[in-house]
Amino acid sequence: MRTQRQVVDYSLQKRAVLRDVRNGRISPLEVCDASPYLKNAATFHGEPTDERCPICRRENLTLVHYVYGDELKQSAGQAHKAAELPVLAMTLRECQVFVVEVCRSCSWNHLIERYALGRDALVDDEPPMQWKTGSDSHVWEGRR
Ligand SMILES: [Zn+2]
Repeated sequence: MRTQRQVVDYSLQKRAVLRDVRNGRISPLEVCDASPYLKNAATFHGEPTDERCPICRRENLTLVHYVYGDELKQSAGQAHKAAELPVLAMTLRECQVFVVEVCRSCSWNHLIERYALGRDALVDDEPPMQWKTGSDSHVWEGRR
């Protein structure tokens, strides 16, 4: 079952940033600015990947999933483990997930993807309700 909806991919923006770093147009310091909170989230809630950090190449990237939504109340904007996302998808009507990649070595970080999750998102996949069962011509029968 597909649960991710309205996926927005930020890989083009990421590639543009990395190109600018290689060209020397922006300093690595400007893009390696993960906050202590983000690095903590990567340590405690992150998903390890097989992808090397494009900046320092010392460590593999970690993905952090931030979840936003009115129903989450005070926990909106918190990082969640990937394993918790299917549970959120079933319990919430709608939330937004922001996936950020982080290097815990040099602090490189970039938003890579955003998508909607939740029960409402699942309902959207169904075909429109069939309100036309039978023929409209029946309505006027019996009035002649
Ligand atoms: Zn790095």
